Amino acid sequence: MQWGLVGASTIASEHVIGAIRAQAGNSVKSVLSSDAQRGADYAARHSIAESTTDLEVILDDPEIDAVYISTTNEKHHPQAMAAIARGKHVLCEKPLAMTVAEAIEMVRAADSKGVVFATNHHLRNAGSHLAIRDLIQSGRLGEVLSIRVFHAVHLPAHLQGWRINDAAVGGGVIPDIVVHDADTVRFYLDEDPVDVVAKAGTSGMGQGVEDSVMSVWSMPSGVMVQTHESFTHPFAGTGIEVHGTMASVIARNVMTQRPVGEIALVDGEGRTPIPFSDHNLYARSLSLFVDAVAGEGRPSADGVDGVKSLAVALAVRNAASLGQAVTVDYGGL
Ligand code: NDP
Repeated sequence: MQWGLVGASTIASEHVIGAIRAQAGNSVKSVLSSDAQRGADYAARHSIAESTTDLEVILDDPEIDAVYISTTNEKHHPQAMAAIARGKHVLCEKPLAMTVAEAIEMVRAADSKGVVFATNHHLRNAGSHLAIRDLIQSGRLGEVLSIRVFHAVHLPAHLQGWRINDAAVGGGVIPDIVVHDADTVRFYLDEDPVDVVAKAGTSGMGQGVEDSVMSVWSMPSGVMVQTHESFTHPFAGTGIEVHGTMASVIARNVMTQRPVGEIALVDGEGRTPIPFSDHNLYARSLSLFVDAVAGEGRPSADGVDGVKSLAVALAVRNAASLGQAVTVDYGGL
């Protein structure tokens, strides 16, 4: 399978190009950039044969089977719709779009065209999160009562661009990180948040967009979820805790792009370290996508997963702005 990269992005450069090339028979043929020189430099740096400033060149190429969209967030919807219309399979970055209605349109278009459409939620591919999900679903924790998510990080200097100052292209910590936490909680519990309350603000980095947020979500089962996302915390460390009636899971340094961290199961017997696989998160996401294109199984996170994580993030932003509880609007999905 040959790929076109839609967007000369950092995430493609740091993780996804390698993950595509790790799949047998998969290669990257072309990269789209809005700037010809940057695109050519990017292609040269990553040994990609072609670069273009015209999406149509990639979509016209019959040798390109799939595109990976990792432009700024406001471009995901129009670029995905164009690619789907031309019969390309699409792996799209989160958030899928700027609105739930746009994201649903992308899912429906892919369904009717019969192409694979997936969301690149990397966390549910991590050995750590797969192990935590197994513990929950095996009943080892008893009835789950609450989940606390610690996802306040320090945005590296090289990413302190549109994310911290441009709402129009999808900046802000809510579309950037809350979507991942929503996907992880949904992945653990197999249910969707019903309503949320939140407070958001700027704590030193954001200009015109929020750089920090805390929220509380209600789940249909009654599980309470508390999350903290930020771009401005150099020393907080990440983690997730799942508390049940029989045991708690305490995981640290797991809300990350790398296969690292520690998990402990804590119960009346004490604290037991939980081992987990250290496979590459993005390689697993790509592997399941490639299998789905071959007609085997489903992508790790599909389009509906991307719609739902976006819906939760937008509800959090809305709740913070209104100062009241907001029901999550999944647009009928
Ligand atoms: P970047 O800022 O690196 O790239 C986004 C766009 O910015 C690119 O498409 C590029 O435009 C432009 N750009 C990149 N470098 C420069 C530069 N030096 N000067 C001017 N413009 C530049 O964003 P990220 O890679 O961090 O994020 C891209 C997408 O991926 C987002 O949707 C984000 O939410 C998502 N993401 C997902 C992650 C995950 O783990 N799932 C992790 C990180 C990001 P052009 O293509 O026109 O050249």
